[in-house]
Amino acid sequence: MMFRRVLIANRGEIALRILRSLHSLGIEAVMIYGREDRISTPVRLADESVYIPRDDPLASYLDIEAIVAAAKEVGADAVHPGYGFLAENPTFAKRLADEGITFIGPSPEVLQLLGDKITARETMLKAGLPIAQGSPGPISNPEEASLIAEKIGFPVIIKAAAGGGGIGMQVVESSDEFESAMKLCQGRALSAFGDDRVFLEKYIQGAQHIEFQVLGDGTDAIHFGERFCSIQRRHQKILEEGPWLDEAVREEIGSKVVEGAKAVGYCGLATFEFLRDSNGDFYFLEVNPRVQVEHTVTEMITGTDLVSMGIRVAYGEKIRMKQEDVMINGHAIQVRLNAENPVTLTPSPGKLWECHWPGGPGVRVDTHAYTGYDMPASFDSLLAKLIVWAPSREESIAKMKAALSEIKLLGVDTLIPLHQAILSESDFRKRNITIHYLEEHKNLL
Ligand code: ADP
Repeated sequence: MMFRRVLIANRGEIALRILRSLHSLGIEAVMIYGREDRISTPVRLADESVYIPRDDPLASYLDIEAIVAAAKEVGADAVHPGYGFLAENPTFAKRLADEGITFIGPSPEVLQLLGDKITARETMLKAGLPIAQGSPGPISNPEEASLIAEKIGFPVIIKAAAGGGGIGMQVVESSDEFESAMKLCQGRALSAFGDDRVFLEKYIQGAQHIEFQVLGDGTDAIHFGERFCSIQRRHQKILEEGPWLDEAVREEIGSKVVEGAKAVGYCGLATFEFLRDSNGDFYFLEVNPRVQVEHTVTEMITGTDLVSMGIRVAYGEKIRMKQEDVMINGHAIQVRLNAENPVTLTPSPGKLWECHWPGGPGVRVDTHAYTGYDMPASFDSLLAKLIVWAPSREESIAKMKAALSEIKLLGVDTLIPLHQAILSESDFRKRNITIHYLEEHKNLL
């Protein structure tokens, strides 16, 4: 037994990725869409689609009541939220539950708990995960912040409890900076998340971003190893790869994230994000309670279909694999082919007059784009993801360079020249990479 019909409350490459898993599981896929996506690839491939016209293009994908009504209208037994939009919204998950429709993801309570960085930190600390020192709860005034910062040592970072997308974060070097930094962070948090609670964390110098892929079924959980995602611009990843750690460290942190997932009765796919300092110490950042853009890297090195596994556990199946069945093989790299100017990194939407993607063994392209596709300006600039697999990192880099050079795109700018430059750069080749990589290699832009 399995779901009969699932509504995909998303668009673009991830909608197509979810549709593929649904169809391979024999499940009908229903899309919602706004005006910009009338003839999009996932809409054309769906078994049925529901038009949600709105003046603001984002509103079609954010209107909870309209989406719940669409799911009821088409007789969907479940909704897959993808990433972004309503994927982490407890109210959406709750509304669906009220209608007897399954939300493919964790429960509203777990979304609530993990969506608040303060309660997430508390919960994961109790579960035994390593966490950076910081304020035990929200901080309300600069004097209190100063006292804590003096105890844990400068620099510190002020973050929004409800944060996401790197919004509002302020690095503070000394006590006299607190007043303005706190105000700034609180103001940004209030306007972006409607919640001005902020907290303090030790700033980790020269860190690497490493994250673990987890799957839970509500009782049990397993992990699929790590991804290395330190190549970021504006705190957003543009190139991800894996594996990165040696086996002993993977086992150590892996068993901790599994405990973390079990502690909250996690059901679905999750990513546990960490910073790792130059001593090799890990600091838990947050849990992303959904499928992630870079899940593909893990699928390639473990030979799994993670999206299908997330759907199965949402249906109520238990995890079929054991931890020891998860085998990591070879090396995978993903580059995000954002439609952006490779120098200014500003969006470059428009019509694709020509569009040719690479192929061959170990080359995967996840994209909704095609010749004639008109990339709208209203959404994020992710046009395609190119993922390669090879037995070693060196071979993976070589294969990625060759695959990138096969791409023919006319009409929009992309990050291809930047990715080519990174792949040839010597620190990148030597794995000498921190989250400051792009700032420290401005010549690549
Ligand atoms: P968000 O949810 O807003 O994306 P995260 O907590 O996941 O915020 O952090 C995003 C990025 O911000 C990290 O990958 C890192 O580059 C930087 N960052 C966050 N916390 C710290 C910290 N304590 N020390 C150093 N950098 C940090």
